[in-house]
Amino acid sequence: MSEENQDAEQMTKDETPQKQSRSPVVDALGAGVVESYQKLMTEFGIRDFSPLVRKLPPEKQHFLMTRGIIFGHTGMEPVIDTIIHGKKFGVMTGIKPSNSYHVGSLMTAMEVVHFQRLGGKVYFCIADYESYVVNNLSFTDAIDTAIDNIADLLALGLDLKNAYIYKQSSENLVKHYGLIFSAHVTMNELRGVYGEKPRLGYYNAALIQVADILLPQIIEGSMPTITPVGADQAPHARLTRDVVRRGVFKKKFNLPSFTYHRLIGGIDGTDKMSKRNPLSMFYLHEDMKDISYKIRNAYTGGRDTAKEQRRLGGRPEICRVFDLFKFMFEEDDDLLKEREQQCRSGELLCGPCKKQLIVKIEDYRADHLEKKESLFDQAKEIVLSLETPQA
Ligand code: SF4
Repeated sequence: MSEENQDAEQMTKDETPQKQSRSPVVDALGAGVVESYQKLMTEFGIRDFSPLVRKLPPEKQHFLMTRGIIFGHTGMEPVIDTIIHGKKFGVMTGIKPSNSYHVGSLMTAMEVVHFQRLGGKVYFCIADYESYVVNNLSFTDAIDTAIDNIADLLALGLDLKNAYIYKQSSENLVKHYGLIFSAHVTMNELRGVYGEKPRLGYYNAALIQVADILLPQIIEGSMPTITPVGADQAPHARLTRDVVRRGVFKKKFNLPSFTYHRLIGGIDGTDKMSKRNPLSMFYLHEDMKDISYKIRNAYTGGRDTAKEQRRLGGRPEICRVFDLFKFMFEEDDDLLKEREQQCRSGELLCGPCKKQLIVKIEDYRADHLEKKESLFDQAKEIVLSLETPQA
């Protein structure tokens, strides 16, 4: 038995794929809330990512890895070996073109760009079938957001020389394989993962996503691949790996690997960033005045009075301001640690801390938007070169 198959067998045991009841700890496909990361890891056979991170030389580590934001993985060992030995691997990602990247979802894009720098070829899916089915968005109306998404990705550093960008609606292979996979998945399994959906299209879109994840191997033949996802996508990741274990697919594909990152909570203290709750999140293209307002009103781990905070210290572990530094706006580990210590000791108060975050965001935003603007025409050309169905 090859190492890959041994891995597959081991993972089969670990992930208990027979169990298909809906997870009590995560709501798949977009709810974006995880009640307990530990329970999630147990239920979905997700393993601690930190031992694998330590195998990478320091220059190949990313702060999202070393800070435990990317906390878990399924089947990442072959990808890590591939990175260490400088061999070929695929990086799969995508976004529904119904939303701009916001400060939470940009994190996935940062991960993808990092894995590309480590040698991966990026496959980026514009999930316009999913936005058609789930958001009732026409393929034509999805175009502007898709251009915006690609411009963000380019601004983050995506190298087009080692990337394949496609739309679900124009890539026949994902439609074809989505249908093929539908012959190997039961309705009960789909209900188990996604719950009861009002229209069949939801389940079709999910199976096309299985094909998206396997597209690097459909096009280039079997190879290690990684798909970075938020923790709330664990059920979908398990479904994809289960499908690959079935019949002919076992020989055709390597088991796709996944990394799982923590979800950043709403700035206002709610469980998640949601565009339905504008105070919970922000886009980098938002007016700086609005962003500053949200940060000034952010939920913190501060105390009721400055006096009390100086005496007792703050609580960065429950603070959304600290989270924003940690997840995105402070790349320097030493400076992050210093902030944490100053917060805990009561030396740093929330007002100045928020002001420092606003300055960081302002600088990051200005730099990102300048790059994005300069790359916008390129993004437009890419998206408009892809065929668009009329429906
Ligand atoms: S000082 Fe900063 S990190 Fe500490 S609780 Fe206040 S806002 Fe959060």
